[in-house]
Amino acid sequence: MAKPTGFLEYNRQDEGHLSIKERVKNYNEMLVPLSPEEINKQSARCMDCGIPFCHGYGCPLANRIPEFNDYVYQNRWKEALTILHSTNNFPEITGRICPAPCETACTLGLHDDPVTIKHIEYQIVEKGFKEGWIVPQIAPVKTGKRVAVVGAGPAGMAASQQLVRAGHSVTLFDRHENLGGLVRYGIPNFKLDKSIIDRRFEQMKAEGVEFKGGVNVGVDITAGYLKKDYDAVCLTMGAGVARDLNVAGRDLEGVHFALEMLGEQNKVLTGEIQKSDAQINAKGKVVVVIGGGDTGSDCVGTAHRQGAKKVYQFEILPKPPESRPDSTPWPMWPAILRTSTSQEEGCERRWCISTKEIIGKDSKVSSIKCVEVEWQKDDAGRWQMSEVAGSEFEIKADLILLAMGFVHVEHEGAIESLGTKLDNRGNIVVDENFHSNIEGVFSAGDSVLGASLVVKAISTGRKMAAAIDAWLRDK
Ligand SMILES: Cc1cc2nc3c(=O)[nH]c(=O)nc-3n(C[C@H](O)[C@H](O)[C@H](O)COP(=O)(O)OP(=O)(O)OC[C@H]3O[C@@H](n4cnc5c(N)ncnc54)[C@H](O)[C@@H]3O)c2cc1C
Repeated sequence: MAKPTGFLEYNRQDEGHLSIKERVKNYNEMLVPLSPEEINKQSARCMDCGIPFCHGYGCPLANRIPEFNDYVYQNRWKEALTILHSTNNFPEITGRICPAPCETACTLGLHDDPVTIKHIEYQIVEKGFKEGWIVPQIAPVKTGKRVAVVGAGPAGMAASQQLVRAGHSVTLFDRHENLGGLVRYGIPNFKLDKSIIDRRFEQMKAEGVEFKGGVNVGVDITAGYLKKDYDAVCLTMGAGVARDLNVAGRDLEGVHFALEMLGEQNKVLTGEIQKSDAQINAKGKVVVVIGGGDTGSDCVGTAHRQGAKKVYQFEILPKPPESRPDSTPWPMWPAILRTSTSQEEGCERRWCISTKEIIGKDSKVSSIKCVEVEWQKDDAGRWQMSEVAGSEFEIKADLILLAMGFVHVEHEGAIESLGTKLDNRGNIVVDENFHSNIEGVFSAGDSVLGASLVVKAISTGRKMAAAIDAWLRDK
């Protein structure tokens, strides 16, 4: 145990952020790490409780949190790093952007603020890179088996790294030029700089992962060809079909899916496209973001940095409660009101708002018509939405961003040609070994789960890799 009285002596201290004024000037990461003295105190708050719910219930990766907290407290950072990497390939990603279900399950959180687990994770891995402790782990023996991984998001990256370390030859395909999936082409740089992905990719390349970017499987090469040419195929293609808004005016100029804007901005920052070629910009505009989640919040932060005049964010669901409701008791993930750093930067958030129509002038969006809604349970206990009579309103809008979630993996192309079985939500069906209905074709990440989280993509990617390794060795 780190320090038996630590949780009694020290209060929780979160990492800092650059001031709003400073950070909206550019797209740089805004996180300000805690000092070594402070991080030592924060690790001392871990109680090493009898049943660490953070590890066994909260974290999808089952990160061994009490152990790494203890090592950090003892200043044994290298051991902390080994423990962290034993369950998580990319703590530098989760340490920055995970919503940290480990913290909402922390036992200390029952009657005090939980341990600042996510930031301790960040500190461990950043120290590891700084000290040069993170080096390629090259498989001592090659198996001669070849695996194709389609989709280089966190699920595909984790699976590739695990498989190559197990001695298999791995080719990782992506339709984008660079790897990272939504972490590169969705999540903004101010939350996660793309050099963080490149740094890890260097290790993966040295371990033997062959990356083939700019290859759209199902268009440039067929999935059938991969199946013939490789011993196993992994589909880690994400849940790329965005939920659309079916209202009049949807086709007007200035109405875009969130990822069109976020992806474009990230490409400009890494030089993949020129700023002058970018099609979407919020500068001087009134921006309406439809969707109150993470994606919408990233649009808000990006719009601020592009110089938006005013930003609204509308959510169709009711405003969540400020504190943990009875419906999600500890250690469950609580459905509470959260305010992201982007929302802190200033935006008018409204809940229970539904869009009626988008209005345009000269084929460009000029305003949006909405209505307030209320939610009530019907006799069968299902939530039903109804419009509030007389609550319609119209506001000026120059740019509308649709951030209403994602429905499922793209079906056209690879999935249709393979005949992969889908569930009633359109996700790929796999068994407990991540094996689809097609012999030798496996799947993990958002393609299976539907739109989810990085931590779950890494977790399922790792589990799928272990299952493929066992399957290949069996053969
Ligand atoms: C804007 C935004 C913000 C988010 N913020 C967070 C956050 O803060 N924290 C968090 O935990 N999660 C966040 N998420 C969710 C998280 O990014 C995803 O859950 C995660 O990236 C899923 O990983 P994946 O590997 O399954 O799929 P993806 O990351 O979607 O990667 C799939 C890859 O497959 C490729 N692909 C698809 N089809 C083909 C094909 N036919 N041929 C070749 N390549 C193909 C795609 O190009 C893509 O690179 C966010 C998502 C979005 C959109």
